[in-house]
Amino acid sequence: MKINVGISACVLGEKVRFDGGHKMNRFAVDELSRFFNFQPVCPEMGAGMGTPRPTIRLLEKQGDIRLVSTRDTSVDFTDSMLGFTEKKLPSFEQLCGFLVCAKSPTCGMERVKLYMENGHTIPGGTTGLFTRELMKKYPWLPVEEDGRLHDPVLRENFVFRVFALHDFYESTAERTTKSIIDFHSRYKLVLMAHSQALYRELGKMVGEIVNYDFDEFYVLYRQKLMDALKINASKKNNTCTLQHIQGYFKRSLTKQQKAELTELILDYRHGDLPLLGVLTLINHYLSEYPDEYLMSQVYLQPYPKELKLRYGL
Ligand code: SF4
Repeated sequence: MKINVGISACVLGEKVRFDGGHKMNRFAVDELSRFFNFQPVCPEMGAGMGTPRPTIRLLEKQGDIRLVSTRDTSVDFTDSMLGFTEKKLPSFEQLCGFLVCAKSPTCGMERVKLYMENGHTIPGGTTGLFTRELMKKYPWLPVEEDGRLHDPVLRENFVFRVFALHDFYESTAERTTKSIIDFHSRYKLVLMAHSQALYRELGKMVGEIVNYDFDEFYVLYRQKLMDALKINASKKNNTCTLQHIQGYFKRSLTKQQKAELTELILDYRHGDLPLLGVLTLINHYLSEYPDEYLMSQVYLQPYPKELKLRYGL
């Protein structure tokens, strides 16, 4: 079953841009669409702006951010855009991610140009109107821009978060305490690699789950889980996690195998080997010396291999 993911329609190749063109992202269309059921949205079309259409920009006006025509800033699309967004957002409840178009005053996620009335821009920019509301309503949802997918670390992080959120929804569909505990157990090494602090915090929360109202726990856990996964797994944390995994083999590996694994972990730490190199050896040892706990860990098989996301890490 494919995972439901929202996408700016132009990134999927639909000709909905102001100039009648598109901004197709080949990785999304050729690779991700094998696993994701992309649900395209063009908020500007949805807000009735048509194509082709005049260019628009974000303008800061008396402490408010308005979406206006570039040529005539008295032509204001803010209310129609917010009206469309408010109606559309509830239909995104089941999405596990959203891929948006960078730089757009509507869809951009960050550093979108924000103009002052004197025509100058405000340093740092802002978020496009539609994406701002999307992220406000669904703060746990993985959101990423098309352009940032060129970075292997950001690309892996986004795709992994989508798979993880989908896994969370599937695994806890019964909404029982046990389903959360089992899910958490499979993500321990993942959390260790992404954030030691949130790994400890979530572990403590799960340990005290019986003291919570279930629905409150579910929402809080989902948020903290997704916050943790948003932090890129650093080389240092991955190294600690790999060394932790190595500990599970201490009785099964020969002296030579242990030395070989230690060397590969250090090679990874020093940037001489991709993470995949170490994980391939670990998965090989795991097939020789099965360990139930390790085999359950999502860290070792986070998403389909065909996506080749760990090659650049
Ligand atoms: S960036 Fe967003 S609003 Fe602009 S064309 Fe693409 S989908 Fe439509």
